[in-house]
Amino acid sequence: MGRIGKQAVVVGAGIGGLTAARALADFFDHVLVLERDTLPSEATPRAGTPQGRHAHALLLSGQRALAELFTGFEQDLARAGAVPLRVGLDVRVERPGYDPFPRRDLGWASYAMSRPTIEHAVRSRLQECSNVALRQRCRVLDLVASADGARVSGVRFGNETGTAETIATDLVVDASGSGALTLALLKSIGHALPEETTIGIDVGYSSCVYVIPDDAAVDWKGVMTFGEAPHNSRGGLLLPLEGERWIVSLGGRHGYVPSADPEEFLAFARSLRTQTIYNAISGAERVGDVARYGFRESIWRHFERLETFPGGLLPIADAICRFNPVYGQGMSVAALEACLLRKLLGERADGVAADGLDTDRLARGFFAELQALLDTPWSVATLDFAFPETRGQRPADMEMRLRVGGVFARLAAEDAEIHKLTAEVQNLLKPRSAYADPALRQRVMALMADAAPRAG
Ligand SMILES: Cc1cc2nc3c(=O)[nH]c(=O)nc-3n(C[C@H](O)[C@H](O)[C@H](O)COP(=O)(O)OP(=O)(O)OC[C@H]3O[C@@H](n4cnc5c(N)ncnc54)[C@H](O)[C@@H]3O)c2cc1C
Repeated sequence: MGRIGKQAVVVGAGIGGLTAARALADFFDHVLVLERDTLPSEATPRAGTPQGRHAHALLLSGQRALAELFTGFEQDLARAGAVPLRVGLDVRVERPGYDPFPRRDLGWASYAMSRPTIEHAVRSRLQECSNVALRQRCRVLDLVASADGARVSGVRFGNETGTAETIATDLVVDASGSGALTLALLKSIGHALPEETTIGIDVGYSSCVYVIPDDAAVDWKGVMTFGEAPHNSRGGLLLPLEGERWIVSLGGRHGYVPSADPEEFLAFARSLRTQTIYNAISGAERVGDVARYGFRESIWRHFERLETFPGGLLPIADAICRFNPVYGQGMSVAALEACLLRKLLGERADGVAADGLDTDRLARGFFAELQALLDTPWSVATLDFAFPETRGQRPADMEMRLRVGGVFARLAAEDAEIHKLTAEVQNLLKPRSAYADPALRQRVMALMADAAPRAG
């Protein structure tokens, strides 16, 4: 592949940083990933990604994007002990009116595993790239701007021995999760900050791992139990993990939050709309403590609306947009963004892009194309407005969206083709515009008219 630059630096070795580094490796002589944590040699949780102790679902789009970046990635997961799941069949989905939702094999294989296992698998594959170096215990302190503030020319970081080092670079990718380094850089050069769209939900998460009991008489491999909007936001997710274990994450919005006490965790499971998860874990052996996590708001930083943006800098993944974790989208969106980055770099290397090899304009092209990628997952995140306490810019057509969503659930329950379509959109394989098919719209409208209260 054509080369674009000599040195690229990625801040953060989460899923966003590791996948971005893979994309860069084809186009830069050297890619350096700087991670503040000590990276475990095994697939175990670490401090910098506390979410790693909670259930993580990998959507089909994310699985495919990872396989695009790392050929044979699904086999890597299987070798690491990930549990194969038939989409639509193996996870019992419980939602109001459907306990359970009809189960059908929709024709795809996915995998369930811990987040540390996914990250470990991605990291191992990245380390096979000879031009990528991963330095742990290196905390990036700030991004270094050129004298005129027009571009980022390097990063300053505290290295393994605690000494400050600066490295010059053609491109910095900020995959630090928070995006704090990008925002601090913009402030320091007097640049405008991106506008933000937020959805305030105050989600509380508690998670615990159990040994799958030998006598577990269940006909599922996982369970997803939804609450009932607008009054009950309590839900639970049970997924199998490598090593014959289950991970159970329970959560609620706006203060309905499970505690870290194991007995209270069980009581919270019992308070869900159905008893399926409680019945499964009440007699099961617990492994370790209950882990907790608080998530205040989904946030989308609109870098695309800025009139200018410093060259040589690209925020990515959670640093741009992070979603309420209950929808299980973050890792998949991160991997899809890395594929988009690789595509844009390829266009530059091939001379197809109007701005040639110029990395100063890379971010602007990335932000522009990212809008289409984020539209569907963000639309999913707006479902939080079904709960009246949710803060933020409620979409004007929210009531209609919720009603249409209810009709789609009914159609999907009855019709395998619609079930497959909704699974494709939920898994970000198709955009939500796939629902705009005229024949389908007609069916939806007819059902809505039937359900509408009649005059007189
Ligand atoms: C409770 C919870 C559950 C979730 N469940 C799911 C799920 O089911 N499915 C799903 O797809 N997604 C889920 N997510 C989201 C997912 O974890 C992230 O969206 C995804 O991993 C992308 O994150 P990232 O790589 O951008 O950032 P992170 O995962 O936050 O990684 C950032 C990395 O940067 C490092 N770093 C930060 N600052 C510096 C610095 N200054 N110098 C050096 N290194 C630095 C950190 O140590 C970390 O390693 C969940 C999130 C949470 C909170």
